[in-house]
Amino acid sequence: MDPLTISLVRSSFKSIGAIPEGEEKFARSFYAILFATHPETRQHFPAAMDTQRDRLMRAIRYVIDQLETPESVLPLLAQLGRDHRKYGVTEEHYIAVGEAFAAALADLAGPELWTDETDHAWRLTIALIASIMTEAANSDEGPPTRVGTVIEHRRVLGDLAIVRLELDHTMSYEPGQYVSVQVPNRPRMWRYLSLATPPTPDRIVEFHVRRVSGGWVSPAIVGESQIGDTWLIGSPLGSLGVWREPRRSRHMIGEGTGIAPLRAQLIETAQRGDNPRTHLFVGGTYPCDLYDLDMLWALTRTNPRLTVITVTEYSDNPWWVSRTVSPAMSMGPS
Ligand SMILES: Cc1cc2nc3c(=O)[nH]c(=O)nc-3n(C[C@H](O)[C@H](O)[C@H](O)COP(=O)(O)OP(=O)(O)OC[C@H]3O[C@@H](n4cnc5c(N)ncnc54)[C@H](O)[C@@H]3O)c2cc1C
Repeated sequence: MDPLTISLVRSSFKSIGAIPEGEEKFARSFYAILFATHPETRQHFPAAMDTQRDRLMRAIRYVIDQLETPESVLPLLAQLGRDHRKYGVTEEHYIAVGEAFAAALADLAGPELWTDETDHAWRLTIALIASIMTEAANSDEGPPTRVGTVIEHRRVLGDLAIVRLELDHTMSYEPGQYVSVQVPNRPRMWRYLSLATPPTPDRIVEFHVRRVSGGWVSPAIVGESQIGDTWLIGSPLGSLGVWREPRRSRHMIGEGTGIAPLRAQLIETAQRGDNPRTHLFVGGTYPCDLYDLDMLWALTRTNPRLTVITVTEYSDNPWWVSRTVSPAMSMGPS
């Protein structure tokens, strides 16, 4: 993009930020115009739009900040394009979004600020973003969403469940990646979850989910998921990737369900048999929070180059769980 276009986009966006609650007003106006002109798009969004508006503004700010170095923003836009496949987004929707975007900006900026040049600069930028997203979406393989049937739901802690699902189609992903999921009792509320195992030939995936107090989706997954439930699962995302240099050492640090993508990588490298020297630090508040230690100890037995180090804030479990902690969880090094 040329410097003049970047400067026009940036300065007009900055002016909107300078209006009291300008960004909030813009986001509200953008969605209002989009839903009024293309009512069919409303079904893809949750009833409460606050989080959605925040996400939109964060993404716009990031993209605008990076316009001089498109290479740093390309992966994000490509990923957004692939992620949006789950909504069934078409080229027509991109055009509708672009129109609503420009209309909301023009409305808020007013005729003095919203000159023909500014309008042109924004339309160029929006078209460029849309083309990157569409291209990435079109080059993605497989169906936009897979259906996963819950085959196991284990409550390993009061607030944490391990859920295994069988997918209807194979999904190729790099261990360390995450996916967007939608569960049946929380329609239109997509949430990201990390895949806790590498891909298996029988299309089984595993997620570790912690209940967030006051959250919409995680309490439903932890507390209400049933065998036989069907989830929608979007394309694999993220670039944590697998370590491909066996001669170098690596340190991994994970807390709570944050170990999910790390364990997927550890299982995968163990299967490949070219493990780099690895120190995995697993953290929690109490020893009983280290819910997956059995599996991690098992990995250290087959992989002598893996060391698991447990790190807990307290050395003993609190009194209310001490009687229910399994022996394997309380025996590891700390
Ligand atoms: C790349 C990625 C991978 C993820 N992988 C996993 C995973 O493997 N397992 C897993 O359990 N979760 C994972 N998450 C988090 C998950 O996507 C949800 O954000 C989380 O489950 C909360 O969703 P909710 O609907 O219950 O809460 P929401 O309804 O979205 O949020 C309710 C309130 O809780 C706050 N909140 C949201 N998340 C947290 C949090 N973690 N801690 C404290 N407050 C929070 C929100 O700000 C909001 O105020 C991942 C997130 C990302 C971005």
